[in-house]
Amino acid sequence: MIKKDLLRKIPKMDEILNDDKLRFLMEEQGRKTVVEAVREVLDEIRGEIFNLAEEETEAFQAKLTQASAAARAVLKVEAKAKPYLRPVINATGTILHTNLGRAPLARAATENVAQLLPGYSNLEYDVPKGKRGSRHDILQKTMMEMTGAEDVMIVNNNASATLLVLSSMAAGKEVIVSRGELVEIGGSFRIPDIMEQGGAKLREVGTTNKTKIADYENAINENTGALMKVHTSNYKVMGFTQEASLEELVELGKKYDLPVIFDMGNGLMVDLSPYGLDEPNVPASLDTGIDVILFSGDKLLGGPQAGMIAGKKEYIEKMKKHPLARALRVDKMTFAAMEATLMLYRDEDLAKKEIPVLRMITEEKDSLTMRAEALAERIREANPALKVRLIDAEDQIGGGSAPMFYLPGKAIALSGEACSTAELEKRLRKSEPPVVGRIHEDELLLAIRTIREEEYDDVVRAVAAAKDSE
Ligand SMILES: *Cc1c(COP(=O)(O)O)cnc(C)c1O
Repeated sequence: MIKKDLLRKIPKMDEILNDDKLRFLMEEQGRKTVVEAVREVLDEIRGEIFNLAEEETEAFQAKLTQASAAARAVLKVEAKAKPYLRPVINATGTILHTNLGRAPLARAATENVAQLLPGYSNLEYDVPKGKRGSRHDILQKTMMEMTGAEDVMIVNNNASATLLVLSSMAAGKEVIVSRGELVEIGGSFRIPDIMEQGGAKLREVGTTNKTKIADYENAINENTGALMKVHTSNYKVMGFTQEASLEELVELGKKYDLPVIFDMGNGLMVDLSPYGLDEPNVPASLDTGIDVILFSGDKLLGGPQAGMIAGKKEYIEKMKKHPLARALRVDKMTFAAMEATLMLYRDEDLAKKEIPVLRMITEEKDSLTMRAEALAERIREANPALKVRLIDAEDQIGGGSAPMFYLPGKAIALSGEACSTAELEKRLRKSEPPVVGRIHEDELLLAIRTIREEEYDDVVRAVAAAKDSE
């Protein structure tokens, strides 16, 4: 058969579009998307025919049916209908995994978003008064109740918060910061650069390993605008070290009538020292009488991406009126998720149970072991060819928080005879939803701490499918 005849045998667009499944997809995804997919399939078929060897044409014709073309188009439409952003199963044991979206949200938060978003809301409407309200009031009461802050403001992230705080409190002035705290958070967010963007002048004091309160005091002059402390979230200076405490800075600020700012980063709302996590927390930091603190919404607070600013009304009022406030403001989605998350902190036990980040940090060894055993058993059944064993693992907070802190965890270690560990890792990652583990000494580790029970079925399915594609 010659190729010209074969080209004539290609099913026509209209015939293909008559397919039941495609007609259904047209209703669901729109006619244009489906027609486009069929057109792509037809182009591909033409290309394939041009590339055929003479002896392959016969076999090709047999496969060239309306049904097979339609089936190819269905796959294309379905692939196009999938959003790029989709769920991933985090089996790395790193709780705030920056690449995997940092903090997962509490159910109360996602439900509040789902309930609020399809319709209108009182975002900037005062319902009792029947007139314009302010979005700044939304979190006010809850934050006051949870942290004792006089006032609060929410912006896009903590980087924005830093910019706004410095612009409104210290533009044209010097801000005194310890040399040990000139942090780079990642993605070119460096305290000295943000300082410059905010129009403030960085006044470094002390040395990398030691800064005393006297160093701050000696640097104070008539141009000083604020004293600032930055939590060294993502690194630790070890050995011969000293830093000024918040209390000392607050006292010094009072003495010279200067505001004190604390970029605390992680936004931890409860005391987790009983779990070995020695990090500052929001209520305790505010208790020192500090003027302004700022922190992320999606680190240890466990909420949506946001930058929270809390502290004295006189400063935060000014921030709300600053031109940058409009540029950095957040959407109702963020408010809805944040308010519902903060409300869970009314009861600390509830917060530890319902806020995924806290639940993962505080999960006991026994519970991890039990969960890992249960999942391992199902994995063994699903794929008997794999070698499956439970091992002790070190889990991490991640997200640039508490870098030296390891949580004793449990991982399911997988290795196969039929395929390499690297191949196994790839197959799980290519499953839907992707399962992301980590390779350690030629085993694929699935850390149980960051895997939810609701995700077991998907993990088991991915492991079973890894066998089929061998
Ligand atoms: C993480 C962090 C930031 C940046 O916060 P984003 O919410 O990621 O913008 C700023 N400062 C400190 C100390 C941090 O730990």
